[in-house]
Amino acid sequence: MTVADLIDTDQGCWNIEAARAVLTEADIDLLLQLPLSKRLPRDELFWWPTKDGSYTVKSGYWLGRRGSVSNANHETDEDTQSLWRMIWRMNIPPKLAHFTWRVCVGILAVQKNLFSRHCCMSPSCNFCEEEECSNHALFQCEWAKRVWEDYGYGDIIEATGELFCRERVEWILTNLEEEGKWRFLAVAWAIWTIRNQRIFEETPPPPELVLTGFVKMVTDYRLYATRVLSFTRNDNGAGGNSWSAPDVGRVKINTDAYLTGSGEVGLGVVARDANGRVLWTGSKRVRAGWDVAIAEAQAAIFGLEVAQARNETSIILESDALNLVNAIRTKLLTRTPLGLGVDDICYLLSSFPSYVVSHVKRGGNTVAHAVARLCETVGSAFVLSADFPQAISALAEIDLI
Ligand SMILES: [Zn+2]
Repeated sequence: MTVADLIDTDQGCWNIEAARAVLTEADIDLLLQLPLSKRLPRDELFWWPTKDGSYTVKSGYWLGRRGSVSNANHETDEDTQSLWRMIWRMNIPPKLAHFTWRVCVGILAVQKNLFSRHCCMSPSCNFCEEEECSNHALFQCEWAKRVWEDYGYGDIIEATGELFCRERVEWILTNLEEEGKWRFLAVAWAIWTIRNQRIFEETPPPPELVLTGFVKMVTDYRLYATRVLSFTRNDNGAGGNSWSAPDVGRVKINTDAYLTGSGEVGLGVVARDANGRVLWTGSKRVRAGWDVAIAEAQAAIFGLEVAQARNETSIILESDALNLVNAIRTKLLTRTPLGLGVDDICYLLSSFPSYVVSHVKRGGNTVAHAVARLCETVGSAFVLSADFPQAISALAEIDLI
């Protein structure tokens, strides 16, 4: 028996029944993370940690630094995705966003982590007797606690004392107002920097100076970002935040994917004309452990297949996944599971006499998003060209205001 025996070559998808005979449910979930192409191209090896599937020394080093392969696996559940988005939308310096992310996923180079990888002699804190996990280094060590008190966060740190590091950061990012959030992150970042300076530098600068410097750096960045970056942000091919109708004669096809967090993905497509009228819409729910990018690609494939079946001739394919849209535009065909999807999309697009690919931010893709959530059971699917669900018609109306 070979892997090919588990592939339904007519449908271009995994044959779950055949897989059940030889694999456990947990292994089937892993199997379903691998997208297949209906074009059934030849097998190729790819290096998963890089975007284009080719090995680089840097990525090998990065993998080594992260420890085991399972540690390095990107989490794909919806919670992690939404945390990631929350951090990246905060209008803070990218380095601070990275730092915050490292705190949340538990990969700061604290003594506990270094010790577990045999990189230091003891897991204890350099300033007290306790074990140094990131929660300790940033929030629980006595000197760090005093900093939080000085900055007016004493009560909050106390109130969230029982939480793990990630939950604590999430709680604060969810519950504080805007200024409270970014100041909190700036102070955490300063505490980590001061900790490193105290350990690695012979004459570390005064902590107060580092703290005020970091808070000022973030303040300045936010000022700069709102003044300057807002003009340049759209240069990366990103569309606006609201849906716009296509020219007369064209059909705009918005697609979106919805990850349930329990190994299922909802795919949605909605087609609309120059008046914003919904022409047809489709939804399906599949069992698959795809990450967001792959799921978005599969949603586009689903949308194009329905459009093809309905004999559309002049289309605009629109998605809120900018990396996907740019990959299609540049026909960036790489040896990765995402590249496989991009290949399929380009192949399908070439069957339309006229097509354009465009990006819209999530605010302009709400109808497709709602449609993606409509099928509630795995294996179910529908395509409608009349009598649309109330929620869909209502959202489509709102787009036109
Ligand atoms: Zn300590």
